[in-house]
Amino acid sequence: MVERIRTIAVVGTGTMGRGIAQVAAVSGYSVRMHDVSEVVLQRALAQIRETLEGQRQRGKIPADVVEAAMGRLFPTVDLAEAAAPADLVVEAVPEKLSLKQEIFRALDQLCSPTAILASNTSSLSIREIASVVSRPERVLGMHFFNPPHVMRLVEVIRHEGTSSEVVEDVLDVARRMGKEPIVVRDSPGFVTSRLGVALGLEAMRMLEQGIASAEDIDRAMELGYNHAMGPLRVSDLVGLDVRLHIAEYLYEKLRSEVFRPPDILRRLVAEGKLGKKSGQGFYKWD
Ligand code: NAD
Repeated sequence: MVERIRTIAVVGTGTMGRGIAQVAAVSGYSVRMHDVSEVVLQRALAQIRETLEGQRQRGKIPADVVEAAMGRLFPTVDLAEAAAPADLVVEAVPEKLSLKQEIFRALDQLCSPTAILASNTSSLSIREIASVVSRPERVLGMHFFNPPHVMRLVEVIRHEGTSSEVVEDVLDVARRMGKEPIVVRDSPGFVTSRLGVALGLEAMRMLEQGIASAEDIDRAMELGYNHAMGPLRVSDLVGLDVRLHIAEYLYEKLRSEVFRPPDILRRLVAEGKLGKKSGQGFYKWD
């Protein structure tokens, strides 16, 4: 089989983008990394090296893999330079529709006509992102999880017009990266955010109603359902402001009471208790 995808461009090299670039480089792809400044790009490269070195020290990868992967990463502040050779672009800029549309409009001009344009959005509509380009059939979601080098799931999100060939190509890429992809129809929250947020909000309502303590609610899912972490602890890690934002979005789009944000969530966010990042949420974090 001829490999259609050899070069991947990652646009936005923050928390997710640099992890995606790392996984792609380790998997043998040539990777163009693009961000707004040289400083951000150099920081991303340094963090990738640090993560790979950590893996090497723990015996997970040999030293030559670290060097080979680093040698496949090409940072550039010029979007055209990143886009032109790419067979697949994974966009990972902040979660704002207008910004993503602006990037996709530019990519549409700068990429080869056969390039696939993917977004790592966790909640935005893929159809709306695809609506600004001349090749909507080559647009889809490629949703990685944090941290991308550890988490095995990739949600591949197809909108009504995404071609099946494009879905297959991206599934192949995800598998070559050692991931287990699932295919999801473009719908608010996809599978993961919709289910994860529903569970988290219900746990908050139970806490509000005094049904059990935060620790016991989490323990119920950890010990009774084998979840790696309970829903309140997960909410603290994700950030309560982020959870509230997604809940409001899903409530508006899906019109289901399941997603109405509970008072306790609004109150904690208003008090600046955002979870791990602020030191206090449902739990105290050191
Ligand atoms: P982040 O803020 O850590 O990184 C975003 C990067 O994009 C930054 O480096 C920023 O400089 C860069 N950027 C901003 N404007 C740009 C532009 N015009 N051109 C190029 N680069 C630009 O954000 P993140 O957490 O990595 O999230 C990125 C995307 O991934 C979002 O859509 C988010 O919803 C999604 N996502 C995040 C997570 C997570 O846990 N953080 C998980 C899955 C998906």
